[in-house]
Amino acid sequence: MINQDRLVNTFLELVRIDSPSGQEAAIGRHLAGRLQALGLETEFDEIGNLVGRTNSVGDDWLLLSAHMDTVGTDIGIEPVIRDGVIYSAGDTILGGDDKSGVAAILEVLQTLREHDLAHPPLEVVISVGEELGLYGARNMDTGKLRARHGVILDAGGPTGHLVVAAPGQDSLVFTVHGVSSHAGSEPERGINAIRVASEAIAAMPLGRIDFETTSNIGIIEGGTARNIVPDRVRVVGEARSRDAKKLEMLTASILDAFNGAAARHNTRVDCDVTRAYDAYRLPEQTPIVQATATSARELGYEVMLRSSGGGTDGNIYNATGIACVVISTGMEDVHTPNEHIAVADMAAGTELLLAVVRRMAV
Ligand SMILES: [Zn+2]
Repeated sequence: MINQDRLVNTFLELVRIDSPSGQEAAIGRHLAGRLQALGLETEFDEIGNLVGRTNSVGDDWLLLSAHMDTVGTDIGIEPVIRDGVIYSAGDTILGGDDKSGVAAILEVLQTLREHDLAHPPLEVVISVGEELGLYGARNMDTGKLRARHGVILDAGGPTGHLVVAAPGQDSLVFTVHGVSSHAGSEPERGINAIRVASEAIAAMPLGRIDFETTSNIGIIEGGTARNIVPDRVRVVGEARSRDAKKLEMLTASILDAFNGAAARHNTRVDCDVTRAYDAYRLPEQTPIVQATATSARELGYEVMLRSSGGGTDGNIYNATGIACVVISTGMEDVHTPNEHIAVADMAAGTELLLAVVRRMAV
């Protein structure tokens, strides 16, 4: 029932509007204009998240959400279609993460209007800064949202695979203090911060811990010269788990590794731990899970309720009591120059969204 050509055109248009995280003003204005043209009332919050609401009766609001920013700094993205698959022409990302999600929402709104289809009151939230660790959603006043359940369009994979669980994440920043000295004449007076950091990293649980738990050290920087014992190293990492207890234990053992290494060298480490977002797992019986699964089955897809390894704005919404399922838009190899999306898959995700929205009308 959706119009596939229109969907593709919308997607291509959105891809051509530069919107790296932190530079969303232009696309935000464009999207507000589009939502208004579709009859929604729109508002921006202080940091640029866009909220649109349909002018409908009823109070069982359904949230439809995606993010308007694209990962990294790529601009001037030029999409090309080859054999029914959309790629970027250059060595940039495509930005289908998450413009395919935005395009799907716009196409569903357009289709509802065009065919005058029954739907619940719809609350559309298009966030900024999602790729910066859910910045937009984390800083949103979610208390103002009316929906108690919703669908997030921000995943890849087969259309019938529904994300109902995701890990929580701790973001970790360590500053290892040492003592500098001349490396040749009096190294014994120094405390080598790189050595301390190395011992800590070698001792900590790192990488794939178990099926739902991971950790990473992503940045290490420090030292000033070859012949100076370094007095400072900064280490940035993360820990994730879908199990809250495991996440707590993992973060604690990473802290232990740093504190232990520092103690052995008579020095100290500043540890800065921030809970970026909490894990969630929606029970199978949750109405939005049921509605989405039933709709997908009716469209002929094999349904699998799965867990993701990454966070989405859904982590924030679910934590604040808005039960959200994340569905696939067909995006593949996101965050790489090989990112692509098959038109058929994007259309399938959009049809599924339309079906869920219509089902929630009754
Ligand atoms: Zn995304």
